[in-house]
This record gives sequence, structure tokens and C-alpha cells, in this order.
Amino acid sequence: MKEINGKTARWFKLLYGLLSLLMLLALFAFSYATWSNVKQQAYESLTPHNQSLTSVVKRFFIHQEALLGELAESITVSSSRDSIIQTRLNDVLRATPQMRVLAVLDTQGSIVATTGNIHTLEWLDLFDNDESTIGRPFRPTFVGENILPVRKVITNSSGVKTGYVVAAYRLLGNDAIWQEAEEAESKRRSMIIGDDGRVYISYPESDTFWQSFVSLKVEDEFLNTLSELTQKAGEWHTRDVQYQDEQLLVTASFIQDYRFYIVSGIQSADLFSRWLERMKYVALAVLIFLIVGLVVFRIILTRAARFESARNVAEHNVFKLSRAIEQSPSSVIVTDEYWLIEYANNRLSDGTESLIKLDSGQVLLEHFPHSLLKTDVAAISENLLHGTNWYGERRAKEQKQWFSFSISGMTNDAGHVTNHVIVTQDITERKQVEVRLFKQANYDALTGLPNRRRTNELLTETLKTAWQENKRVAVLYMDVDNFKQINDTFGHMLGDQMLQLIAVRLQQAVADSGTACHMSGDEFLVSIVFDAEQEVVDLADNIMSVMKQPVLLEGKKLFISVSIGISRYPEDSADVSNLLKHADIALYESKNQGRRCYSFFSQELDDKNKRKVELESEIRNALANKELFMVYQTKNRISSGEVYGFEALMRWQSPRLGFVSPEEFISAAEEIGVIDQLGEFALYEACRDLQKFQFHATQPLAMAVNVSMSQLTNSDIVGTVRKVLQDTGLNPSVLELEITESMLAQRLEEVQPVLNELLSLGVSLSIDDFGTGYSSLSYLTRFPVSALKIDRCFIMDMVDNRSDATLTHTVITMAHKLGLKVVAEGIEDEDQLALLRVYGCDLGQGYYFTKPLTYDQMTAHLKSQQETPDWAI
Ligand code: C2E
Ligand code: MG
Ligand code: MG
Repeated sequence: MKEINGKTARWFKLLYGLLSLLMLLALFAFSYATWSNVKQQAYESLTPHNQSLTSVVKRFFIHQEALLGELAESITVSSSRDSIIQTRLNDVLRATPQMRVLAVLDTQGSIVATTGNIHTLEWLDLFDNDESTIGRPFRPTFVGENILPVRKVITNSSGVKTGYVVAAYRLLGNDAIWQEAEEAESKRRSMIIGDDGRVYISYPESDTFWQSFVSLKVEDEFLNTLSELTQKAGEWHTRDVQYQDEQLLVTASFIQDYRFYIVSGIQSADLFSRWLERMKYVALAVLIFLIVGLVVFRIILTRAARFESARNVAEHNVFKLSRAIEQSPSSVIVTDEYWLIEYANNRLSDGTESLIKLDSGQVLLEHFPHSLLKTDVAAISENLLHGTNWYGERRAKEQKQWFSFSISGMTNDAGHVTNHVIVTQDITERKQVEVRLFKQANYDALTGLPNRRRTNELLTETLKTAWQENKRVAVLYMDVDNFKQINDTFGHMLGDQMLQLIAVRLQQAVADSGTACHMSGDEFLVSIVFDAEQEVVDLADNIMSVMKQPVLLEGKKLFISVSIGISRYPEDSADVSNLLKHADIALYESKNQGRRCYSFFSQELDDKNKRKVELESEIRNALANKELFMVYQTKNRISSGEVYGFEALMRWQSPRLGFVSPEEFISAAEEIGVIDQLGEFALYEACRDLQKFQFHATQPLAMAVNVSMSQLTNSDIVGTVRKVLQDTGLNPSVLELEITESMLAQRLEEVQPVLNELLSLGVSLSIDDFGTGYSSLSYLTRFPVSALKIDRCFIMDMVDNRSDATLTHTVITMAHKLGLKVVAEGIEDEDQLALLRVYGCDLGQGYYFTKPLTYDQMTAHLKSQQETPDWAI
């Protein structure tokens, strides 16, 4: 619907006002005309009515007078009752329906004959004088209605009055004088008034004004009016008359013979109701028009107000919009569909201080920077055709400036693009920030190499290309060996410099063959696309050798090495995360193999890793689930073979994994940090069980408990041992803690204070698996230990292998010189024992004496030893 504005609304207002006025005027004129018409009709209807009434009444009376006259002439009054008269009277009465009673009177008024049974009426009293023919109307009780007496004189042949014929007529109702008048229009008033003012007949009777007419005379003033109205016989005049409370419209005629006024009248109230009757529909129509008009007018006004405010807002918005475009920091250009400029706010700078001026009429794509869009025109048109905007960021090759272009189409009602709106922005700064942010997010700040995030992206891209080109990809995950030590020893500054140097070396080693990345801390990654396996091996070797070169930092000559794990696409995995995971597993393997080497991922490694993960998850709850228990192996004196003491060894019978060797689960427990609890458990069990074993021995027995390296470095081992000794009340001198040599050698500096504290508790320490840690014998002097345990691998081949035998002998001799006791591990046969006896070894441990036994087995064993020692010769 078309909006209605304020101006139209004002027109509507005026039109409505005028129409309303016109309607009211027309209503007024119409009502006046109707009123006049009603009145006119009343006038016009009154005169004929009155005329007809006059003629009816006149005729009636003349006729009745003639009838009565005729009757009078035919009657002779005598004193005796005359049956003939009676019969006649009855006949006449029957022939005249208006006649109620008919009688013959003598001159005294006595009834000579009469119809019906009215015998008592004083007829003559009803006439004013002897002359009058028409008497006064009255209402005899026996009749019950108004009747009018009329008489005629009876004379004898000599002309002497002998009596009267008197008739009484019904005034109103059926068969009455005014039957005709009665049938006339109901609202009309009619009456017969004598010239003395007496009311003879009035219709309708019931109205108040006429009610008591029998006894009433009309006022003189009214009588005068009647006389004025009837001054000229044969002419009828009408007049408004105020009579008593009523306004009347009256016309009248005068019947000279009977001196009657025949009056016809209408009450003004009746006229008014007639007028109202005729006016009501018109008035209603006008009222409806005014109300409907008013409603419509209100609606129009409301709509107009709304439209007005909407238009104001729209105007305001348009104003704001144009200001916004003018002052916008972006360049806004409107062109026609052929790229001819229609409007440009000239806001674009050319990179210097000056603005790029564009004038209407120019072809936009001919001018910089929009000339950069020349190749995009087809794509832009395609977009706009489909109702979508086109957005692009472009940079001129020779310039540093970047621009963003947002192009939308303006369409006409038919949906055709008629204009282009081009919003252009200089986004050079944003681009620079983006580049900076990209670098920050994707490159390591220290080494400048792609970081882990970027590595993932790069690897994804590399794998995609390799898949397309049917090539292979190798991922070399590299970890700097013992970097933590370098950091801890020389500080982080030097550590950082070291990492920078490693990055440089790595890049050199990789050169163009692959991509070097910095994953985190001391972890690096290299990816290469390759065809033959040898390329990967060569690269790994190259990296290892480059890294091996000594590093000179802050005057210090440092040696570094790296461990590498390698996984390959597609054989090891087809996705980045698994490829990385597998390279990591291979790296772990390299570390396990003593570092400074590289390993390729394999299915076996994966299985091993899976087993490790499984172990780690199961061992966590093994203690709480009571799956762990201790077994004991005796340590015997080589010389006599008697039991010297025990070594406590832990066992794990896992319900899911079955029996797991201590080497496996101890390292898993170390890995996930539950070794402390396991160690504490071993100490408690061993100490308590030793006290029980003691019952079966005469000599004091010793108990050796294995302590893992991480217990020494990461936990409060001293506190634990002190607590166990306190709780069990064991003499500290019989408790020995075994520490594996290889571990000790690596981290002696770190653990030495702990070892000293342990010694101060009164317990003794021994070096386990001696010979596997490559520590020089002189190194031993620095350990605060009291015993050496020669590893099983030397004892095992000692009998057949001379060098092992020599080594064992040397170790025993050396150890004795240093004041240490020597324990030989893994004695399995008599020959080994014999040789060790020759070498003067102090103690021995092995299947030859006992296998590791449960508490019950050991108790039984000790008992049997007491009885018949099996070592007894
Ligand atoms: P270990 O401390 O050197 O213990 C000696 C190992 O040699 C035991 O293996 C033992 O059963 C085995 N053995 C002893 N005599 C012979 C023999 O004549 N022939 C052969 N073939 N083997 C013999 P096990 O019990 O499997 O323990 C392996 C290692 O697990 C232990 O080496 C020790 O380093 C570690 N370990 C065991 N229990 C514990 C523990 O409670 N705590 C810690 N931290 N490590 C433990
Ligand atoms: Mg041991
Ligand atoms: Mg050992």
C-alpha cells in the first residue's frame, strides 16, 4: 500500500471536515424540509378530512332530522300506549344502526313509547331549552357509552305540540355517528364543539384532553380561534394552537344549521414523531458516515504520523550515510555497469601523502589500484550476477602496498545489475601485522625454524604432495642427548646458544634435501621426500656427524650428540600424527640403545612400545591390588657356603599380563613415578621377613634391598629408610642397599649426598651389576660403598673365558685393596664356585645356592639348612 504522507493527511483532514460540514448542513436542510413536508402533509390531510367529516356529520344530522321528522308527523300522541307506535319505533331503530334508543314523549317528557327498556330517563332535561333539537351528550349507566340525544316535535293536525320523538345516537364506535372518523388516521384528532364551547364528540376519547368533554367546555380563546378559522364558509384554514399543555395544528368548519364546529387537529408531538420517523435513517446514515469517516481519518492520521517519522528517520539516515561515505577511511566508488565512475569519495592514498584522485566519467579499471582487478572482471561479473559480493586482496608487484576490494552490485527493480559499488582499503599495515603474527605463530623465536604447529602443516602439505607424486617421506625426530645437563651445568643462556648452533648445523646438514623444524626444547625434526632408503640413511649419518663436531661456546669446548628416531611414509603411517608418534617411538629406542644413534621405526618397536604403555597402566595399581610380593635369594659365604644373608627381589604376578620380569616393571614404575611406593613396600617386606628368618639362624643375617636410581634422585629415600627401620626396629647394620653401577656412574655427583645420608643411618651400600657400567675401578674410591656385586655376565663365562676370569680376579683383588667386600652374582655350578673360592671372593649368590624363593619357601629352606646343610662337604 502506498504510504500516506503528512501532506496527503492534511488534505484528508480538510476533505473530511468539509464533507462533515456538508453532511451536517444537508442533514439540517433535509430535516427542515422533512419537517415542512410533514407539516404540509398534515395541513393537506387535515382539510379534506375535515371537509369529509363535516359533510358526513351534516348529512347524518339532516338525515336523522328528516327521519325523526317523518316519524313525528306519522305519530299521534295519546295517553294510552299505542302498540302501532311501538312497532314503528322498533322498525326505525332497527333500520338505523347508529341509533341506540328511540322514544316518544308527551310534552311533559313522560315516555309514551320507547324502544328497549329505557323508561326512566328524563329526556327533556337533556335539552337546553324548548327550541333545541340536539341535546347534551351524556353517558347513561345502562347504556355504558356516550350518546347524543336528538328530538323532533310532534304536532297534531292543528299544529299544537303534543310530544316529541327523541332518539339517542351512539357517538363513537361501530354503528356510531363517527364511525367514519374513527376509521380515519389514528393520530388525527377530531371533535364536534358547539358554538357555546361544549364538546359533543371527541375522537379519540382516551386522550386526556378530550376525556371529560361531556362536562367540559373548551376555553374561550380556543373557541375564538375556531370562530376565526371558520369565518368564511367554504374555506378551510389551519393554525398552530397552544391549548393547555399541547401544541396543536388545527382546522375547523362550522355547520350553521346545528351551530357545530367540526374540528380536526394533529398534535405537534405526533408531527415530530412522524418527522423523526422519516429522519432517523438519514440521521443514522450521516452519523455512520461521520463515525466511519472519523475512524478512517484517525487511521490516516496515525499512518501519516508513522510515515512522517519513518521519513524523518530515513532522511536522517540518508544524511548520515552520505556523511559516513564522504568521511569514510575506505574508498567508496560507484560505477555504472561498464565501470564508468559515477561517484568516488577519493579517500585512497597512493602510499605517500597524496590521494589518488578519481573523477566521474573515468573508466575505473584504467586507474591504479583498481587496474589490479583487470584479470578479475569476469569472476566479479559472475559473482554479481548470482547476487554475491566479490572480495579480493591484491598487491601491485612493483609496490609494497596491499589493497582489499569489496565489490557489490546495485540492481534495479527488474533485478539487473546497474551499478557497481567498490569499497577499497589500503591493508598494507594489516598484511605486515599478519606476516609478523604468522611468523610468531609458526616459527620458533630462538632458532627461526618452523615450530611444532607449522611443522604439522608443512608435513601435511608434504604428505599430500608425496601422495600425488607417488614419493616417500621420512621424518627424523631428533633429540639432543643430555641437553638438560648442559642447561643445568652451563646455564640457559649457553643452552639457548647451543640450540641456535644446533639449528644452524641441522639446516646445513639438511640443506635443500628437506625441511628442518624446531619442535620444542632440545627436540628437532627433519622431513625429506625420498625415493631410496639410502638417502635417509645418508641424511641421518650426515646429521650425526655434523652434530659430533665440538662446539666452542664462551671459551668452552663442548661435545654434543643427538639421538634420532625415523619413521617413513607410507609404510609406517599415512598421517602426520602417527608418523610423528612412530618417529618418537624410534627415538625412544635410540635412547634406550645408549643414545648417539638413530633407529628406524618398526613393527617390533611398536609392539614393544605398546607393551610398555600397557605395563605402565597396569603397574600403577599393582601395589593396591596386592599383585606384588617379595622373593628372596640367599647370599652365601664362598668359603664355607653358609647363608650370609639375602637379596630381596620383587615379583609381579599381573592378572592381565601374567608374570612380568622385574626389569620390565621396575623401569615402567620408574617411568610413571610409582617406584617410590614399590621401593617402600620392598623395604618393609624385606625388613620384616629378615626378622622372621633370623629365628632360623644362629649367625646374624643381612638383607639386601635393590634401590632404583630414581628413588635416590627424586624421593625422600633417606626418610623412607629411617621410617622403615624405626617401624620394624631392625638393626641398620644388617640392611644393605644395592645400587646398579651404570646408573650410579652417570649421576654420582647428584646422588653422593644422598648416599652419605643413607650411610649415616647405619645401613651399608653396595654396587650392583658391577662391570656393566664401564666405570673405572679408580672411580670406586669415590663411592661410599662397602661391597661390590660382580655382574652375572662375568661369572657366567668365567670358567671357559680367560679374560672374564682375569677380570673377575682383578676386580676381587682391587676391591679387597679398597676394603670392599665382593659378591659374585649368578653362580650356577660347582666350577664357578671353586674358581671364586680360589680368587678369594667373599660372597656368592646364584641358583647354585638357591633360586629366588618366596617367604614360605625360604623359611622351609632355612629350616632344612639348619638340619642338613646341602653345602656341607
Ligand atoms: P639384580 O639386583 O642384579 O638381581 C639379581 C638377578 O639375577 C635376579 O633377577 C635374580 O633372579 C638373578 N639371578 C640370581 N642368580 C642367578 C643365576 O644363578 N642365574 C641366573 N640366570 N639369574 C640369577 P631378577 O629377580 O629377575 O631381577 C632382575 C633385576 O631387577 C634385579 O637385578 C634388580 O636390578 C631388579 N630388581 C629386582 N627386584 C627389585 C626391587 O625390589 N627393587 C629394585 N629397584 N630393583 C629390583
Ligand atoms: Mg640386586
Ligand atoms: Mg645384579
